[in-house]
Amino acid sequence: MSINKKTIEDINVNDKKVLVRCDFNVPQDEQGNITDDRRIVETLKTIKYLIDNNARVILCSHLGRPKGEFKMQYSLKPVAKRLSELLGQEVKMATDVIGESAQSLVDSLQPKEVMLLENVRFHKEEEENNEEFSQKLASFADIYVNDAFGTAHRAHASTAGVAKFLPAVAGYLIEKEIEVIGGALDNPQRPFIAILGGKKVSDKIGVIENLIDKADSIIIGGGMAYTFLKAEGYEIGNSICEMDKIDLALSLIEKAKMKNVKLLFPVDVVCAKQINEEADAICVDVGNIQGDLSGVDIGPKTIELFKKELQNAKTVIWNGPMGVFEIEKFANGTNEIAKVLSQINAITIIGGGDSALAVEKGGYADKMTHISTGGGASLEYIEGKVLPGIDCLNNK
Ligand code: AMP
Repeated sequence: MSINKKTIEDINVNDKKVLVRCDFNVPQDEQGNITDDRRIVETLKTIKYLIDNNARVILCSHLGRPKGEFKMQYSLKPVAKRLSELLGQEVKMATDVIGESAQSLVDSLQPKEVMLLENVRFHKEEEENNEEFSQKLASFADIYVNDAFGTAHRAHASTAGVAKFLPAVAGYLIEKEIEVIGGALDNPQRPFIAILGGKKVSDKIGVIENLIDKADSIIIGGGMAYTFLKAEGYEIGNSICEMDKIDLALSLIEKAKMKNVKLLFPVDVVCAKQINEEADAICVDVGNIQGDLSGVDIGPKTIELFKKELQNAKTVIWNGPMGVFEIEKFANGTNEIAKVLSQINAITIIGGGDSALAVEKGGYADKMTHISTGGGASLEYIEGKVLPGIDCLNNK
């Protein structure tokens, strides 16, 4: 799919002030060191293009949830430092978002220079998509570029509101996310297999519904599988289950049958009495999950079943872990899925969040076609929803 929105290549940025919304919401340790800079690295292409094309680059982002107040631990200063290192040039850091510091840096910014505003969520107006706040942000620039795919599903001031006041185009990262994920959904190389996991069915109903119209097979693991297993009449012991979604699970199973989409569920599971590091792991076939046991990972037969299905895949989208992967002894299923995706000859798209983490931890990141920078955003995109941060951009 080619993007029907204008991109930075469709607009003259020479000598222009360009406000770029990035997703610099990077994880940090307690000392404030950035522990994973992938989101920063992913925006370099856009920033470098703007520098090379003589723009004055004003970057903005959120970081964490400061809830509308200045809080030092959510300052973007460490990002400015890391970005300076990666770009090999100074990134000037404002001490505020729309105040005097920002304004004076903007006023003195020269072509090819880069500056970063403070965390936009230091103002509650950001998440409220307040018009005045959007207008103030927009007043700094001649052009707006959105490259924050990770927040594109939010209609906030800096992700959508500003686009009302400026020519608005997509950066390379948003363009790539849409092309890869959109391409897989609109015109997949087949067989197209979706792997869904994570905690709840309720979070992924829309995704499953949309994928039933597009995929050849849907593999379901993780906590959400137990609602389906219960719907099929299996005892699931103490496993996580959404009783109010049983009917829905049945109707999804029915719909998949009608559309000739293969649904695969676990056939054996790793169970534990408690979900913690100390708990004993017991592997049982589905059907033998006893009263006090909770299913916490997929078992070896299931791993083989899923692997076999994936061998022939030509396109795979994966979202959500196969078990409680935060606990090492329950991470095997998730790790094995990451591994098999790194080995098959297919377009592999990892839908951000936990699945991306598992892929990176396993050292498989460079073997994947695409690891989305947006967990929630990619999920909503796969669901077929309109993302406000993309919708607001100018059409080609
Ligand atoms: P989600 O945010 O919906 O993708 O869910 C991710 C979370 O699901 C992770 O924190 C996992 O620990 C959790 N999870 C995966 N499998 C299970 C399970 N069988 N029981 C409980 N939680 C699970």
